Amino acid sequence: QAKAEGRNCFHYFTPALDCAAHQRNSDLAELRRITREKSFALVYQPIVDMRSGSTIAMEALLRLPNSPLAAYPVNEVIELAKEKGLIADIGKWVFSESCRQLHRWRSAGIGQINIAINTCAPELLRPDYLSAIATNLEQFSLAPADIALELTEHEAIEADRSRSGVLESLRSQGFSIVLDDFGTGYSSLSYLRSLPVTSLKLDQSFLHEIPHHPDANAVTRAVVALAHELRLNVTAEGVERIEQAKFLLDVDCTAFQGYLLAGPLEADAALEWLSQVRQPAALLDIAPRVDG
Ligand code: C2E
Ligand code: MG
Ligand code: MG
Ligand code: MG
Repeated sequence: QAKAEGRNCFHYFTPALDCAAHQRNSDLAELRRITREKSFALVYQPIVDMRSGSTIAMEALLRLPNSPLAAYPVNEVIELAKEKGLIADIGKWVFSESCRQLHRWRSAGIGQINIAINTCAPELLRPDYLSAIATNLEQFSLAPADIALELTEHEAIEADRSRSGVLESLRSQGFSIVLDDFGTGYSSLSYLRSLPVTSLKLDQSFLHEIPHHPDANAVTRAVVALAHELRLNVTAEGVERIEQAKFLLDVDCTAFQGYLLAGPLEADAALEWLSQVRQPAALLDIAPRVDG
């Protein structure tokens, strides 16, 4: 709450609510400004295959350097952007910059690596969405199979309801569709089954009690098994401890991501990661080392 009130609030003289409203207005003006000026940056977090230990993708995450908004958690800024109708413009920049980055890595000789891009319903619902992303792919010589689109269950359902067929269309073009923060939503499993998704990304809250809490272990094991039954990949996010990674390997999770391996990296560090640390999981000695 203190955070939402922000800086420059004169609590002793201004009623708190006025101050919060004032802060919100200046945050919004700032968000409009950086959206107009595309004053954003991306950082990249490795996603590593559990079995081979190699980096299979980098997830692009939005950052707002040089802005007072950098003081807020990114998802709060994203929420504000959604509320105020700015998210589609931000998403457009994120998609294009992610493609540009993947193209740079390819040009630097980094082999098969995908990019995971976070997105949401308002972006997918733009009338020009499909044509804009096709233009980006062409500009950077990329194929849909190079790209995973991450969206939460809620956003996927919203997109599916409002523009029936948009997810199918993306899927049939060859994009991977990942349900992010899986396990925190409320939709029925039968509805989920009707969505054209390729992977589930287990929410990091699953991991907190693993492996020392039998119930948490059982739920995670069951979700991973369900994913496999539905022929979906399953990635775990927020892996911070080696015991968690061992547990995930044991229950046959497909891939993982988290501070244990690497946090979000700036472009230079990401390139270094991709060119040097090809098998971090093998280095951590949790996955069987792949010969050759
Ligand atoms: P997400 O897509 O679920 O991303 C995972 C978040 O967990 C990221 O926070 C990441 O930095 C953080 N994280 C990664 N590893 C660990 C770990 O081991 N432990 C812990 N505690 N945290 C970890 P971040 O970058 O602040 O992003 C927050 C959320 O904001 C994202 O959640 C995503 O929903 C949204 N977001 C970020 N970038 C974009 C974007 O370009 N577009 C859209 N639409 N949403 C974005
Ligand atoms: Mg994500
Ligand atoms: Mg997530
Ligand atoms: Mg999240």
